[in-house]
Amino acid sequence: MNKLIDRFGRRIEYLRFSVTDRCDLRCAYCMPEGFKGFEEPAHWLTFDEIERLMGLFASLGMKRIRLTGGEPLLRRNIVGLVERIAGLPGIEDISLSTNATQLAGMAGDLRRAGVSRLNVSLDSLRPESVAKINGRPVLDKILAGLEAGRAAGFAPIKVNMVVMRENADEVDAIVAWCMRRGFVLRLIELMPMGDTARKMGYVDLQPVKARLQQRFGLIDTVMTGGGPARYLGTPDGNFTVGFITPISQHFCATCNRVRMTVDGVLHLCLGQEDRVDFREMMRAGASDTDLLCAIRRAIDMKPERHEFIEAPQKLVRFMSMTGG
Ligand code: SAM
Ligand code: SF4
Repeated sequence: MNKLIDRFGRRIEYLRFSVTDRCDLRCAYCMPEGFKGFEEPAHWLTFDEIERLMGLFASLGMKRIRLTGGEPLLRRNIVGLVERIAGLPGIEDISLSTNATQLAGMAGDLRRAGVSRLNVSLDSLRPESVAKINGRPVLDKILAGLEAGRAAGFAPIKVNMVVMRENADEVDAIVAWCMRRGFVLRLIELMPMGDTARKMGYVDLQPVKARLQQRFGLIDTVMTGGGPARYLGTPDGNFTVGFITPISQHFCATCNRVRMTVDGVLHLCLGQEDRVDFREMMRAGASDTDLLCAIRRAIDMKPERHEFIEAPQKLVRFMSMTGG
């Protein structure tokens, strides 16, 4: 049976793969202060190893792959990797999460190679807030990247905004901005990934959602491939805003995803420590059959839910490692 179904009846068909743990930005909620602990490239899966592993996952029904990081566009020859993954039987959809600082020069090549959907992080339209939240003065580059993405034909482009104390007053302005440009906006609750994130000040998105609904006359809507977000939209269907609320309203019951780090460790839940090291197995000479069994056993370990509220101190991993 080429389906991956876990102990709680969830069909797992979405893999987020972090192709690097490096990044040119230092978002306060993502990278620990003074972070230097990058893995040596020898520990990273090679393109051959990635292609082999993704092919095995795909043969078991993993249909959708999201490339993330760190910043995925910093991985050397990422376009070549996309081409190889796109050629695997069973892969129906390749998407990419990026901070867009390098996107202006790469958008067309990525699209031609097989990326079908793009998520771009944009936490503020104020240059000084971007410098503070994201650690570098890169607003202009992000905006140029977004325009290049649009020119390359990505549609829709999703803009991801993590809402926190620093930028909560900008939500309405960013809604209006995305509305004018035809971008789908997704508002994300800050997850307590380490002290740095906890310092940024959590904002509950439920009241924000109620306010936006009223102010912009939004109605409930669904979005295919929308993942854990709950969506509101304008009645004419021209604008959509999603709410990713792992804290105020968790969505573990419908979780269909797992995450792989650049060094080949599969994480079964963003908020738990359950993991399986595939690099070790591959480099020890595991056969395809061994790896297929290991994938099934790993999926059986997927926990029922995260415990961000009950045990926020439990999580010392950062998004730059597991890719968000
Ligand atoms: N570098 C790319 C980017 O920024 O989009 C891809 C990797 S990034 C880790 C993926 C997503 O995780 C981004 O949308 C980022 O805003 C989000 N993220 C990182 N740390 C987070 C946290 N503590 N809480 C909520 N979202 C977080
Ligand atoms: Fe880099 Fe993305 Fe993390 Fe920001 S959120 S530090 S851009 S990996």
